[in-house]
Amino acid sequence: MNSTICPKCRGRLEQVIWAGIEVDRCLNCKGIWFDSLEAEQLKGIQGSESLDIGDQEIGSQLDQFKGDIRCPRCQAKMTRIVDIDQHCIWYEICPKCQGVWLDAGEFTKFKDNFKPKGVVERFRQVFRQT
Ligand SMILES: [Zn+2]
Ligand SMILES: [Zn+2]
Repeated sequence: MNSTICPKCRGRLEQVIWAGIEVDRCLNCKGIWFDSLEAEQLKGIQGSESLDIGDQEIGSQLDQFKGDIRCPRCQAKMTRIVDIDQHCIWYEICPKCQGVWLDAGEFTKFKDNFKPKGVVERFRQVFRQT
């Protein structure tokens, strides 16, 4: 796995280890590849958004990418899905190995989506009590 290619821009992916979890990040567009469930795991760890060093502008351009996106692990054609909680995030998932590709800036949004919800819930509870 030392010459993995970015499914979006064909740049080279570098291995990054964060909190013992290994992800692959594109040297060019800074998109991030997560093996099955890694994105979910990392989402719950404080500070993990520091992995997402890319420019959101580039990320959103690549988010419009048309054409086939092949899984960098198993070459299967990836499926584009929309985040059920936050409709502005589209990402790609591999139907075979369940790996996930997030463009630059998407992981940060993915995480943001996690926190505010708790705050809103608490706010609602307070509201109900008064
Ligand atoms: Zn790339
Ligand atoms: Zn795959």
